[in-house]
Amino acid sequence: MYSLVNYNDLKFKIENINKAKLGFLPTKLHKLDNLSQKYGVNIYIKRDDLIGFSTFGGNKIRKLEYLFGDILAQEAKYVFTYGATQSNHAMQTAIACRKYGLKPILYLVDVLNEEIDFPRANMLLDEIMEAEIKVIEMTEGEEEFDAMYRAKEESRKYAEEIAEKESDYYLIPPGGASPIGTIGFINGYLEMKEQEFNQNINITDIFHPTGTGGTLGGLTAAHEYLNDDINIHGINVSHKDNSYLDEVAELANNALEVLGIESNVQREDIKVDNNYVGEGYEIPSNAANNAIKIFAKNEGIFLDPVYTGKAASALLDYIEKGKIEEGANVLFWHTGGTTGLFAEPKMLGNLLD
Ligand SMILES: *Cc1c(COP(=O)(O)O)cnc(C)c1O
Repeated sequence: MYSLVNYNDLKFKIENINKAKLGFLPTKLHKLDNLSQKYGVNIYIKRDDLIGFSTFGGNKIRKLEYLFGDILAQEAKYVFTYGATQSNHAMQTAIACRKYGLKPILYLVDVLNEEIDFPRANMLLDEIMEAEIKVIEMTEGEEEFDAMYRAKEESRKYAEEIAEKESDYYLIPPGGASPIGTIGFINGYLEMKEQEFNQNINITDIFHPTGTGGTLGGLTAAHEYLNDDINIHGINVSHKDNSYLDEVAELANNALEVLGIESNVQREDIKVDNNYVGEGYEIPSNAANNAIKIFAKNEGIFLDPVYTGKAASALLDYIEKGKIEEGANVLFWHTGGTTGLFAEPKMLGNLLD
């Protein structure tokens, strides 16, 4: 049993942090009856794909609520962020900017390296909102991480050029994975605990896709502070090196520190599975495509090829391999991203084969 004292303490401390209201929270948590029956495990889903306030929300909205709390307090005018050309995070940042009358400036790395004749999916939405877009082409042999670094350098220069004073602009890191953004998922964890209690379920496992690690960092921070016993499985959607667990642990500790809580989350407290990335970020995998079809055909719920499809492929594989105990109550945290289904065909691979 987790600590109710710490639950209340955390809730109270979060309420004192600046927040902009973006999502329609709490998002629904409900059972997937057909998949539960088919796989013999109770499968629940957390619907951050329906988070609002736009049609196209997702997990970044939780982080942006606290980031925009900070941005509005600072009275910034320009908001910079970074991602791939089909970044869900960049698109959701633009949505938040437009709601609050701020200017979104997006540095988008062309990971897909495809001729863009007419923008699709998130990039189309970015264009409709008239976000200022800087496409960063990757140079021969360059890693995505290095291109992102280049983008950050360029953006800093540009920010100084257009701003009259430093507080006029705000740089949101890729994925919104700053300590303040991460608080969104500490709050998300508390939201989930309340639903678990009200619905009288005992959740044993959480599966979700992990990218920049803000989601995992927030969930882990709350999990550790509550001393909860749920197994959190972060399913990697891009290749990471050995320092990833340290970065997520640091993010968890730094987010708790913003709340005035001293903590010591360690890399050993975090479970990440690298086996479902496939060839790489934004590269489709057969297993993910299969999972997309299984969720759609059995539940009428749509996943995406880059994130949730890969995480769901892990969930289904764990169940098939008997790695999930009988009678377990597994929560699939749907983080959004379904605009990916309407992105460049390259991102979908053989989905329709
Ligand atoms: C960004 C994103 C993730 C990963 O979240 P991180 O906090 O960056 O790890 C998962 N799913 C979707 C749909 C996303 O857009």
